[in-house]
Amino acid sequence: MPSEVQAFADLGLADPLLRAISDTGYTAPTQIQEQAIPKVMDGGDLLAAAQTGTGKTAGFTLPVLHRLISDPITKRRVGTPRCLVLVPTRELAIQVDASVKTYSKHVPIRTELVFGGVSINRQIAALKKPVDILIATPGRLLDLVGQHHIHLSKVEILVLDEADRMLDMGFIRDMKRIMALVPKTRQTLLFSATFSNEIRKLATTFLSNPQEVSVARRNTASELVEQSVYWVDKPKKRALVTHLIKTQQWSQVLIFTKTKHGANRLATQLNKDAITADAIHGNKSQTARTRALADFKSGKVQVLVATDIAARGLDIKALPHVINYELPHVAEDYVHRIGRTGRAGSTGTAVSLVDANELPLLKAIERVIKRAIPTVELDGHTGHEIAASAPEKRTRSKKRSRTRRRKSPAAQSGS
Ligand code: AMP
Repeated sequence: MPSEVQAFADLGLADPLLRAISDTGYTAPTQIQEQAIPKVMDGGDLLAAAQTGTGKTAGFTLPVLHRLISDPITKRRVGTPRCLVLVPTRELAIQVDASVKTYSKHVPIRTELVFGGVSINRQIAALKKPVDILIATPGRLLDLVGQHHIHLSKVEILVLDEADRMLDMGFIRDMKRIMALVPKTRQTLLFSATFSNEIRKLATTFLSNPQEVSVARRNTASELVEQSVYWVDKPKKRALVTHLIKTQQWSQVLIFTKTKHGANRLATQLNKDAITADAIHGNKSQTARTRALADFKSGKVQVLVATDIAARGLDIKALPHVINYELPHVAEDYVHRIGRTGRAGSTGTAVSLVDANELPLLKAIERVIKRAIPTVELDGHTGHEIAASAPEKRTRSKKRSRTRRRKSPAAQSGS
């Protein structure tokens, strides 16, 4: 669909916001921003399908700020936010907070951030100051509400970010409790990677007459991500990872494993193979996670091994390589995973190591992305054989690799 909008200024955002955008260097709104910003500015509810990487955070942050400054209240109250942004994870909370701070730097808006896994006392102390926008994970928010440090009775705008993930993580009860605490008359924005039946159900309960926007499909089939599958038996996967990283000289690789234990084990094994690696998952302390991410971003650590939940919300710009050590059980998670790369104009590769037992998962993924993922054979060998062979001999093998398409149900049906 051709777009009429050329610049952020065309969206009618307030000048101080346009200045903040200009400071970031972004020249044009992304698709989700172009669609969502005017609708949120109008004041109605919004149901938006958009994944991480589409620019969705600014898609709600900018119009929310616009609305708050257009209708300033004379006296702000302590612990009584006007906008509540509910997020599933601490990492996403930190990312949204950074985004709000970026765009609100020229406007008198105060933001606070509360999430679990860290001391509550510091958050209580910070809440002694008036707050306009509160970014929170559900559990810690309810703790603070229970202790009367936060009052949700004046919330004008409620944002549910990555609502699908909140459901996956079992936050539905907390979400319902929170819904009961915010005013009935409010603006609600629900962002989700997909419009599943559960999300539709949630939207009927929580939103009133919402407008819908969706950019998921386009992102799903991201042309910027070069996807491939290597067939390899489970015990040979680690050797293949080491081989790929060393021969292709990949310097920044995010690897997904199914389990926390698997993430730890792979990180340890890669370190033994002289590849610097760290693991990031829910059992790690916030300090350990933040450090692992900082080391990965700075290049001190070459590989970050993560579970799906931990990786959610990680803001790593232009990540070049993603490896699916195991395929995810939920096909949509594959889309999230590869969405970590090929962002904002940069190209990326997403490699999946698949063993025979994972074939049904691969088929499910191909149905979701509506295309077959090419199988790569190195020098005519399968990943299995490569893993068993001496790595150094195959240094330039990827360049000579042959790519062929398997006939998958998705490809055969032409869907
Ligand atoms: P998000 O989907 O909100 O996680 O954003 C993905 C990335 O895109 C973030 O690193 C943003 O800083 C970046 N971004 C957001 N809006 C734009 C834009 N209009 N142009 C270029 N990059 C953007």
